[in-house]
Amino acid sequence: MTGNATSSAPHGPSVAIIGSGPSGLYAADAIQRKRPDARIDIIDRLPTPFGLVRAGVAPDHQGTKNIVRQFERTLTKDGVRFVGNVSIGRDVSLADLRAAYDAVILAVGAPLDRSLGLEGEDLDGVYGSAAFVGWYNGHPDFADLAPRLPDGSSPGAVAIIGNGNVALDIARILAKSEAELTSSDLCRHAQDAIAAAPIRDIYLLGRRGPVEASFTSAELAELGHLERARPLVDARALEGADASAVEDPKAQKVKEKNLEILREFAAQPERDAAIRIHVLFHAAPKAITGADGKVTRLTVERTEVQEGRAVGTGETFDLDVATVISAIGYRCATIDGVPVDDRAGVVRNQDGVVDDGLYVVGWAKRGPSGVIPTNRADSMEVAKRVLEQLEGIGETAGRPGPEALDALLAKAGVQVTGFDDWRKIDAAEVARAAEGRPREKFTRIEDMLAALG
Ligand code: NAP
Repeated sequence: MTGNATSSAPHGPSVAIIGSGPSGLYAADAIQRKRPDARIDIIDRLPTPFGLVRAGVAPDHQGTKNIVRQFERTLTKDGVRFVGNVSIGRDVSLADLRAAYDAVILAVGAPLDRSLGLEGEDLDGVYGSAAFVGWYNGHPDFADLAPRLPDGSSPGAVAIIGNGNVALDIARILAKSEAELTSSDLCRHAQDAIAAAPIRDIYLLGRRGPVEASFTSAELAELGHLERARPLVDARALEGADASAVEDPKAQKVKEKNLEILREFAAQPERDAAIRIHVLFHAAPKAITGADGKVTRLTVERTEVQEGRAVGTGETFDLDVATVISAIGYRCATIDGVPVDDRAGVVRNQDGVVDDGLYVVGWAKRGPSGVIPTNRADSMEVAKRVLEQLEGIGETAGRPGPEALDALLAKAGVQVTGFDDWRKIDAAEVARAAEGRPREKFTRIEDMLAALG
């Protein structure tokens, strides 16, 4: 395996971090800074690092992805290794890892879509945002999704459920012209499918009102600067909308800015646009119906917000759509030996502590909220607890860590990828990108491994 050398001489504590996204990498950095003698293995089931920075952040938000420069510095620090293409539960058990390392940190995110709980959710043409975003961002789990988009024989409309930034990302990617996406790393298969889909209407549905929407302002404003699409907001939906009762002053400012942007959208004069993005509030999905197993209609119920909750009014309307994408949040996956809070969709924990020597960070700890830097402070807090536990290890021998893992993986015959392998995959993706594009991702693990020569 390639990666940074770790010595077998008297050594410091060993830490395994499962997941190489932001929360795991921030935790590694915080531990490494205080304990430069620590041997930290950052394990990922994909051959590539960076979690949601690679497979979640919108392909047209390349600036956000610059954070990987910092993460690469963490991955190349003394004693830190990237251990890719290793799946916990398949290649090595969590119990084995816990026996091998002084501490194990779960940084596994929340990769599963929450369900809408509606009839018709299993129709062809209905997708969760984890699957849909994973598809256009080249996540190997969703390479074969081939989502059903409008095709000329179906309504030229897509409904996106949710009023968060993920819903905005999806609307924008579907609405952007090919020219607007040339500097993105949107995967070619997705670019082609979107370009071929005669999308005319995109419905963005919030079950509560404009004040309750969880958009951030810069992302919302982007909808107003699209080449072939325009946002449509009914001014009546904004009447009486007031953010002054929002308690947190920072959140209040964001909401006020959002209202200002929405009012600008509502006041825009009529203009022709190939795609209309209908921003609808107080609109909760009620039922999805279809024909021949394919979605054709989304029934929506108008709501009122009462004590912060969306309450149905009984009044409904129908949208003829070819595709329904829910962007309503995520839940963590189950791992043998890890307690999960089913309702919250997170790993059961007390301030990041799951059990003796077992910790959790990021979305698996607190749920799918916050932006990338939110994970820094959160992971640093948990790292403090890990560091307390590791005190004293170094003078007294700790667990074997990397040597034990290498032996287990060799026995299981796993083709592990290290950081140098990632560099090769990275270079191959950059080399095969079309002119002007940052990269063309490999979407299959075999292709990533084949790029290693
Ligand atoms: P989110 O901000 O929590 O938004 C989820 C949305 O789904 C909310 O509007 C929620 O409405 C709605 N929802 C939940 N259950 C629903 C149901 N059963 N029916 C209808 N609507 C339902 O989550 P997200 O958009 O997935 O984003 C996750 C995190 O990543 C957020 O912190 C986000 O800011 C961050 N992110 C940031 C960026 C960026 O900075 N550019 C980009 C993408 C994601 P209620 O509010 O009524 O529950």
